[in-house]
Amino acid sequence: MKPIRIELPTDFDVGPVNCYLFTEPEPILVDCGVDLPASWNALFAGLAQHNLTPADIRRIIITHPHVDHSGQAARIAALSGCQVWVADLGYDWLTDPKKMFGLRAEYYRDHFLRQAGIPGDMARVIEGYFAQVGNDTTPVPPESVHIFHVGEWLEMGGANWQALHMPGHASHQTCFYQPDSRQFLSADMLLPKTPTPIVERPSTNQSRQPSLPIFMESLDRCEALDMDWVYPGHGEPFQNHRQLIQKQRDRIHQRKNEALALIQQGCHTAYALVNEMYAHYPPAFRFAGLWMLIGYLDLLEAEGRIGVETVDGVWQYYVNM
Ligand SMILES: [Zn+2]
Repeated sequence: MKPIRIELPTDFDVGPVNCYLFTEPEPILVDCGVDLPASWNALFAGLAQHNLTPADIRRIIITHPHVDHSGQAARIAALSGCQVWVADLGYDWLTDPKKMFGLRAEYYRDHFLRQAGIPGDMARVIEGYFAQVGNDTTPVPPESVHIFHVGEWLEMGGANWQALHMPGHASHQTCFYQPDSRQFLSADMLLPKTPTPIVERPSTNQSRQPSLPIFMESLDRCEALDMDWVYPGHGEPFQNHRQLIQKQRDRIHQRKNEALALIQQGCHTAYALVNEMYAHYPPAFRFAGLWMLIGYLDLLEAEGRIGVETVDGVWQYYVNM
């Protein structure tokens, strides 16, 4: 059976998020929207069309524990007694979001935002945002959580779907692939609009993971899969995934080359570059641009086309001759 899309509003720039419902053999949700009254009402209305309520849900499967995908899990689990399934990689974010957002805010404050050359007032807005999201996110109690592992097969809608690790947008992201019907629940990996590679706190004693180069690898793996229908985390389901992937890849390389040209012209910090490349955006959107820009710089560095030196704690990019 095909997953039934229920679109739920969010208060994020990304717009509504998709939750997918399987009704048989038992009601299962894949992702469940942000914890807001409007989202709850939309979920209620969507389920009612299939004579269900949130209390009937037997399982929620989380693609990645970002608040727009997992925000209502605790509320639904409390009502229905259902288990919330998440990959081991995402367990901490689901059960202790306050701590995880706190750690991320700390990393941004003490390292990343300084290295990117972001001025104090803008940095404080970003730190405040993380603190707020951490506080506003309802943790799922550990006793309601069931952990799955990547590579494992999960039963949904009477078929087996393989959990595939697709890092890039988030390091803990999983997608679900059904090879017989060639259906793909793509989370925020394949979206009509290229997802943002979020800069995450590195694990202790490790250096920062270059998220856009990692995203491009995941994109290659998606391209290799036979897919008939893609069910994305945001926007309408679509076909012809290879065409979309090629378009997004071309755009990434084009923007990456624009960043290279700007470095050649004398923009040497991430902050200077983001202000040039996202000048047409209001400042709140430029922060999302910063993640993408760091991604372009990581790609250029991986290709050996630029180098980076830390001067007074700030990354300075230069073109390799
Ligand atoms: Zn999302």
